[in-house]
Amino acid sequence: MSSTLDFDVTLTERPTPAEERARILADPGWGQHFTDHMVTIRYSADKGWHDARLQPYGPISLDPASQVLHYAQELFEGLKAYRQADGSIVTFRPFMNAARMNRSAQRMAMPEIPERLFVDALELLVRTDKDWVPGTEGYSLYLRPYMFATTKLLGVNQPAQEYLFVVIASPSGNYYARGIKPVSVWLSQDYTRAAPGGTGAAKTGGNYAASFAGQAEAVAHGCDQVVWLDAVEHRWVEEVGSMNLMFVYGSGADTRLLTPALTGTLLPGITRDSMLKLAPDLGIPVEEGKISIEEWQAGCASGAITEVFGCGTAAIISPVGHVKGADREWGIGDGGLGPVSMRLREELIGIQYGTRPDPYGWVHPIA
Ligand SMILES: *Cc1c(COP(=O)(O)O)cnc(C)c1O
Repeated sequence: MSSTLDFDVTLTERPTPAEERARILADPGWGQHFTDHMVTIRYSADKGWHDARLQPYGPISLDPASQVLHYAQELFEGLKAYRQADGSIVTFRPFMNAARMNRSAQRMAMPEIPERLFVDALELLVRTDKDWVPGTEGYSLYLRPYMFATTKLLGVNQPAQEYLFVVIASPSGNYYARGIKPVSVWLSQDYTRAAPGGTGAAKTGGNYAASFAGQAEAVAHGCDQVVWLDAVEHRWVEEVGSMNLMFVYGSGADTRLLTPALTGTLLPGITRDSMLKLAPDLGIPVEEGKISIEEWQAGCASGAITEVFGCGTAAIISPVGHVKGADREWGIGDGGLGPVSMRLREELIGIQYGTRPDPYGWVHPIA
């Protein structure tokens, strides 16, 4: 393995018994179970990245004054390892996650990690815990790399000098345990996720902390997810929950897609990027632009907009069936699963699970 660091490997003395693992993998749910190991790598301003370890999964000890606990200097990533039809294990575009973590790091005044080291850490963990990669169709091993400030200091005049990078892994089932079905969404007028000049384009925990009240408001109004509007005019549609949004116009040979442009307040999703490349190759042109809630509602009323879906690593594609706001409410198409959403979903899943060719080189073999 060509690595920028050598990993010190300590295997657990108490691995999860095979029957218990099989029981978990039969119905893993989402983000509840974790594998037997984790990776940690330390950073300090004087030594750079050092002390790379693969070790048993377990609690991390932190000084109570660690900066992350006070000022939320934290970043994360999310991607999946898939067991393909031939039994091999792959991930999907992991260098995109590495590059995105480094762009997030720039915004959060945190150190960048060499992309190769980031991917080596994922590969080592997945190889070690390969028996945790489910073989069931639609299941995967979700990988969560993250990084946070460990410096013991309450002063805020400078970013932390010490950080810990960690990778943990969680077997995950189908995002839609009872079959894929369209979600209802709430237009949040009271809360914003991200403002110009803020951290909306960085994958940082603080964005999520700020979004829970909006999500709770959506649920209180009987909706599944919250739609985030721009912070200035509260009209321009940005994201849904923690997914990017795609609007399908027309049908048949006249189908086209529109997705909100990356203005700096949206998270640049890797699923979004994959759709931008996949759809045109299937004869569906894509435009990155702007859409207001008025245009969304009018487009559905006139039939110009035929489908809308959210896209992200966890759910891949999540069709939106109904939209609700304080003073308006409307349905999309017939409120069911649209053919364009389902086709794009099948294509992407096919590449990830190896049942379709991968002309893009997105699939990254691990084991
Ligand atoms: C992670 C994330 C996405 C989706 O990104 P993917 O790389 O496609 O998983 C979209 N929006 C937000 C806010 C996110 O945190």
